[in-house]
Amino acid sequence: MLFFDLGLAPELLRAIADQGYTDPTPVQAKAIPPILQGQDVMAAAQTGTGKTAGFTLPMLQRLKEFANSSVSPARHPVRALILTPTRELAAQVQDSVKTYGKHIALRSAVVYGGVHIDPQIAELRAGVEILVATPGRLLDHLGQKTVNLSQVQFLVLDEADRMLDMGFLPDIKRILSVLPAKRQSLLFSATYSDDIRGLAKQFLTNPVSVEVARRNSVIETVTHLVYKVEGTAKRDLLTHLIKSRDMRQVLVFCNTKIGANRLAYKLDKDGVGAAAIHSDRTQGERMQALAEFKEGKTKVLVATDIAARGLDIEQLPFVVNFDLPGSPEDYVHRVGRTGRAGLTGEAISLVSDEERDDLAAIEKLLKIKLPVQDPGQFARERVSAPRGGSRRPEGRPAARRDEHRRDTHRAAPPRTTAPSADPLFSRPYIPSSEETQTATTVAPARGPKKEIAALFLPPAPAEKQDA
Ligand code: AMP
Repeated sequence: MLFFDLGLAPELLRAIADQGYTDPTPVQAKAIPPILQGQDVMAAAQTGTGKTAGFTLPMLQRLKEFANSSVSPARHPVRALILTPTRELAAQVQDSVKTYGKHIALRSAVVYGGVHIDPQIAELRAGVEILVATPGRLLDHLGQKTVNLSQVQFLVLDEADRMLDMGFLPDIKRILSVLPAKRQSLLFSATYSDDIRGLAKQFLTNPVSVEVARRNSVIETVTHLVYKVEGTAKRDLLTHLIKSRDMRQVLVFCNTKIGANRLAYKLDKDGVGAAAIHSDRTQGERMQALAEFKEGKTKVLVATDIAARGLDIEQLPFVVNFDLPGSPEDYVHRVGRTGRAGLTGEAISLVSDEERDDLAAIEKLLKIKLPVQDPGQFARERVSAPRGGSRRPEGRPAARRDEHRRDTHRAAPPRTTAPSADPLFSRPYIPSSEETQTATTVAPARGPKKEIAALFLPPAPAEKQDA
């Protein structure tokens, strides 16, 4: 099937061609026709499947009749609202709106917390048809009466499961209560839980259900690898893997902000350029860290789950779980940062003994046994030159969900000026070298194996995927 066959307007087909895309992805092929017909849609789509264009393209087509270049704000009421859980995702979605809508005279804006509200107010005052927002900041605008949503006819809840995880349900309900009842609504979610189905029941009308991948599955182009390792040895193993495999773009997940900071600092000390990205950093710092990572200036970006969703880093070859996530669904989202748009990627998890249950929960959700890798040369080096026991363990922390901080006006005031229209997220990824990283596995240990029980847990026997 070609985009042409979907009945999209010539302006949109031109914008798609400008991107170099010819064939719709499965979620686009399934979601676009019913959305164009005005139906509500509930879509379960994995991250990286092209779902943003899946709702942005038909939304633009449905709003096309309102396109105009009048300077009067009254001619540009908010007609479409897209809610996303994180600021980064909001910025990326608006970027897609601009990319695909560049030949149509519709205005868009993005509002999220952590940056000054005044430029957002000015933009809203001038009038925009399409508003992308995080719930907390949108409620601020509603409270200050700086936005009017009474003419919204198109609503998208993007990454709905994440919004529920982050405790946004009351905010979403308050926002929905000020929208016109007569509207088209879409819900996109990476995973389907009973809560998501409940939400869909509440605010969708006879939705068409679109499912493009096995429930809660992860992208097939991703190679999974587990190293069973003591918490205290994780950092050294990570440094070893990055250096010995010459990894150049690695997104590492920690469960806490303090853990992420500490790991980034220590990796930097080990000679591996690293930066941290989490909710305690200002929006300016987050954007800078992400930009430098995308440009290849920083090899390793250590993130909390705030970065697990939405970020589209083209050709990201490696994701590492330094801590296993507390919920198996988060594994899906973290791993979804790699293997995007058909490219291969590798997901490496460093698993300590205390994380055994979490690993089992992930394997149960994915219905696969994750292959366990022998730490090989690294283990032998550790055995021949073990470190003293004075180092603080960097294993899993007690609090897992402290990142799920809401994006409200209570967020720390920014230390940098507000970013403009977030070109950062649209800038293409520039690899630091022409060499392409491929998802290879670590070379098996050479020479006789030594007893490494003190540092590493024994690998489980290899099992085949069972589904
Ligand atoms: P998303 O899941 O919306 O974050 O999209 C993942 C990536 O796929 C983005 O970099 C898109 O630009 C890209 N993409 C979207 N649609 C297509 C398509 N039809 N063909 C190729 N790449 C696409």
